[in-house]
Amino acid sequence: MRALQLKSFQSDPELVDLPEPEPGPGQVVIKVGGAGACHSDLHVMREFAEGMAPWGPPFVLGHEAAGWVHRTGGNIKNLEHGQPVAVYGLLGCGHCQPCAAGAENLCVHGMEGPPGIGFGVDGAMAEYLLVTDPRRLVPIGDLDPADVAPLTDAGLTPYRVIKKVQPKLTPGSHAVVIGAGGLGHLAIQILSAMTPATVIAVDVREQALALARQVGASATVQANADNTAQELKDATKGAGADVVLDFVGSAPTIALGAAVAKPGMDLVVIGAAAGQFTWNFYALPYEVKLTTSFWGTLPELHEVIALARQNKVKAHVQRFALNDALHAYELMEKGQLDGRAVIVP
Ligand SMILES: [Zn+2]
Ligand SMILES: [Zn+2]
Repeated sequence: MRALQLKSFQSDPELVDLPEPEPGPGQVVIKVGGAGACHSDLHVMREFAEGMAPWGPPFVLGHEAAGWVHRTGGNIKNLEHGQPVAVYGLLGCGHCQPCAAGAENLCVHGMEGPPGIGFGVDGAMAEYLLVTDPRRLVPIGDLDPADVAPLTDAGLTPYRVIKKVQPKLTPGSHAVVIGAGGLGHLAIQILSAMTPATVIAVDVREQALALARQVGASATVQANADNTAQELKDATKGAGADVVLDFVGSAPTIALGAAVAKPGMDLVVIGAAAGQFTWNFYALPYEVKLTTSFWGTLPELHEVIALARQNKVKAHVQRFALNDALHAYELMEKGQLDGRAVIVP
């Protein structure tokens, strides 16, 4: 089968021919219907080096996956050939207490091995994907797998954050979304579906702001200008934000979130740009919670898929053939993608 394989860190992935995976007992092979391209793939291709993580190439990229049940090993019940499913991409140890609760994103052994498919273990940018446990599969009904693939990370990650900050987003509150790309445009929809907050989106790219308005942002602010923080504050009618979701995570974006904070706000950094922020007792208004959030749990993925099946969240998808996957990453690096790029093998 054709697959997009990363052969070594700090190189471009290559299209290769690999044997079709064989399902062992209790395993399932999925015919891939869509594999989302994520910024974290770029981090792995460009910034990782041998020895930085306890896993490495070669492996097939792609941690956002959906498709159809293709073959099953022994001991699999209640899955039919051709059934459309989304794939939970995280790989915890499977036996610690968080893993037992489906929170493989918080696995206590999570730093010891490959964190997910497409990170040290073959992922979804291929014709077929091996899924080692049927509980990682979530039925998607009549949704199109290519539309669903981004929901397994770009949808699940903001969904988890929004559930955590939901008590702050009461009527009259303001939520600021920094970065209206793959995750941000889904965050705006989930905020609209689950809270009465006014949603304000910030991005440097006008086309991202246009998408933000299209999917439900009440106001947008173009970052760049010196007065971005003031424009954002004005958009909250001077009150400041109740919640800031930073999908970039660079030093300037964290500083921007801090600049529009009101006391008691949640500033959640989700983007993995690893920007620095200098903290002390007076660095932020009183009781501002500065925290990170990482991917999501299996039960939360079931909830995101349910939201999609109610037509309350839909990824804005640009489709690429496997042959054009490198082009999708080029466009991502240049900031020229609208929503999420999905590779359709
Ligand atoms: Zn991702
Ligand atoms: Zn675990």
